[in-house]
Amino acid sequence: METLELSGILFDIRRYSVHDGPGIRTTVFFKGCPLNCWWCHNPEGKSPEIEIFLRENRCIRCGACLNVCEVGAIYQHHESFETNRALCTLCGACVEECYAEARELVGKRMTVSEVLEEIERDRAFFEQSGGGVTFSGGEPLFQPNFLAALLQACRSQGIHTAVDTCGFASWDTLNRLRTDIDLFLYDLKLIDEERHRQFTGVSNLPILENLRRLSAFGHSIFVRFPIIPQINDDAINLRQMVEFLLSLPQKHPLDLLPYHASALHKYNGLGVEYRLRETPTPEQEHLNEIKNYFESYGFNVRIGG
Ligand code: SF4
Ligand code: SF4
Repeated sequence: METLELSGILFDIRRYSVHDGPGIRTTVFFKGCPLNCWWCHNPEGKSPEIEIFLRENRCIRCGACLNVCEVGAIYQHHESFETNRALCTLCGACVEECYAEARELVGKRMTVSEVLEEIERDRAFFEQSGGGVTFSGGEPLFQPNFLAALLQACRSQGIHTAVDTCGFASWDTLNRLRTDIDLFLYDLKLIDEERHRQFTGVSNLPILENLRRLSAFGHSIFVRFPIIPQINDDAINLRQMVEFLLSLPQKHPLDLLPYHASALHKYNGLGVEYRLRETPTPEQEHLNEIKNYFESYGFNVRIGG
């Protein structure tokens, strides 16, 4: 198959991003992720499938969706019109019918050429600002052939490429893709393997090993460390992070990403439980202490990123 006709599932393409790598960027969000982090702020990126999403605050309780659903997946529960996702066939009829635009199908299949067309719209901004495209998610490495084709297409157009990744992939996959990636935005959460399993659902061993290998190959990497109170901001994890980062062949810049609960409405809209309802946003003073701690070991640290 011609690679420009290869397709994959995305859940968003955002233009004019200034937080996903250098310059002005277009960020392409892949759907599907092998991790299930408790704090994920893009829960619509977890499932590789298209999903039905309900914006409860827009619903005007007209009941039109209930009447149009041929498989009986919509039912009334008190004031709300809920969806039985096991019955839903994702036909989209309720989305079409919902006058209030409260219902949405999250996720869209697109070809490489369609995505490239979107990316190229901002070429002038990329050139002026030193920006480019960032593939994010979800996890872009979860659709490796689609990602490979997109990377090659961007490279052939001279567009700077960044990949925002959790690093959980086989080395064969990463090794195949890495030379078409100008910059890695590489997430590190927890160094203790058991705690990593507890809060993300998977071992961190391939993540740590892949980062070590990429570092040894001389790749440009920004390490991204989400700061989640009471989960990974303790002295033990911070010390283990320093030890691991100091053991890498290169000293990589570090972005601290403070946790915030802004994704709560997305969990509600997808009908998924949110386990960090009580977790506060970290205090600025605490973030500064963490920043100072890493800087004392010679790391170049930013809060945000
Ligand atoms: S059609 Fe839309 S506005 Fe009407 S009940 Fe269904 S979700 Fe609510
Ligand atoms: S997408 Fe189709 S099957 Fe699913 S709830 Fe809406 S109308 Fe029913």
